[in-house]
Amino acid sequence: ESRPESMSAFWMPFTNNRDFKANPRLLVSAEGMYYKDVDGNQILDGTAGLWCVPCGHAQPKIVSAVREMIGQLDFAPTFQMGHPAAFDLAEQLMDYTGHKFGHVFYTNSGSEAVDTALKIALAYHKARGEGGRTRLIGRERGYHGVGFGGLSVGGIGPNRKSFGPLLPGVDHLPHTHNLLKNAFSRGEPDFGVELADELERLVALHDASTIAAVIIEPVSGSTGVLVPPKGYLKRLREICTKHGILLIFDEVITGFGRLTTPFAADYFEVEPDLMTTAKGITNGVIPMGAVFSKKFIHDAFMEAPAGIELFHGYTYSGHPVACAAALATLETFKEQQILEHAKGMQAYWEDAVHAMKGLPHVIDIRTIGLVAGIELEPIAGKPGARAYQAFKKAFADGLLIRTTGDIIALSPPLILEKQHIDELFGKLATVLKNLD
Ligand code: PMP
Repeated sequence: ESRPESMSAFWMPFTNNRDFKANPRLLVSAEGMYYKDVDGNQILDGTAGLWCVPCGHAQPKIVSAVREMIGQLDFAPTFQMGHPAAFDLAEQLMDYTGHKFGHVFYTNSGSEAVDTALKIALAYHKARGEGGRTRLIGRERGYHGVGFGGLSVGGIGPNRKSFGPLLPGVDHLPHTHNLLKNAFSRGEPDFGVELADELERLVALHDASTIAAVIIEPVSGSTGVLVPPKGYLKRLREICTKHGILLIFDEVITGFGRLTTPFAADYFEVEPDLMTTAKGITNGVIPMGAVFSKKFIHDAFMEAPAGIELFHGYTYSGHPVACAAALATLETFKEQQILEHAKGMQAYWEDAVHAMKGLPHVIDIRTIGLVAGIELEPIAGKPGARAYQAFKKAFADGLLIRTTGDIIALSPPLILEKQHIDELFGKLATVLKNLD
């Protein structure tokens, strides 16, 4: 059934996706592990919305916290004033991140969090009298949202193509994608140190005193669940420390339990200087992002000899309703032991993911925590077409998956049980067996 033409305006208004216009797949309600579509079909949520619903849909505590706050304080500027929930949340977030950071800055999205983190990094060096450190380093195939900062440090060609020129002075580390391909085996490949040493090459090329920060997704999500090889992130940390470069982890996807730990930084035991997050922070209920920064970064601003001109902030930073949702999300994590539950599911999940090996078209499988990338052999001359077909078939069969290129990315709510894993991979196997 065809939907009205105007439907195309609410998502990707620049694209001319006729297939989507014909069937936008309207979701009308959600609870726990399932969506319901406009035709009343139950759809198992294999993607936690868009990687953003760790505690499952319609969590009563979060829903009522939001309702209550709207009634009590619908808006309060955090510019030159504040409200208690913003401070309570900061305290709870410090707790949740094990007091490794000194400060948190609220944004409304992951893209804003990334741009904020990049701006903090640039201003930090200026505050210390090292204003020559303006170069930013991302990673090829990194995804850091759609702001100009995030686009510039991001490495996905098609996303950047129509919007140049982007920020000058940006380099991209080689990605791990091709190197990891066909890594069906469960052991992590161990060329991480070697790969991270590419950063030393860039440092030698440009001089450390020109480099402000390196930004990286610990596990890249939107480009198809690229798990870093052993030692990669630790080595990046060492190199950044050695040269006075700030290390930024973009944990918009990996934060809030995706790897069964609070953040990926905990999983890999590497401490970034700045860390961005969004999505799961409010369980997807209200838009919100955040940037965590180490105390020494904040101190540099406070101690800047001549003071420093710095303006940055959003009208909706620390929105009371978002803070209420985030506080209730953190409480739900504790009360329902979301991380412990996710850990308990991991082995069963991993077995189920690896059981996809050998199914038609599957050329690679990657998984870590409760996230997986299943890569399909592309149809010649039509990149992405096979996975998109899988997406459509899966949806029609009551399963929501996400595709990026010819990679199927799976990231269900962390509350899933074994029966959901069985249902997800049972449906996916059927889909794979029936693709062109
Ligand atoms: N960084 C990463 C790693 C992301 O995955 C995303 C979104 N998928 C973003 C930034 C941007 O977040 P948002 O869409 O909330 O702006």
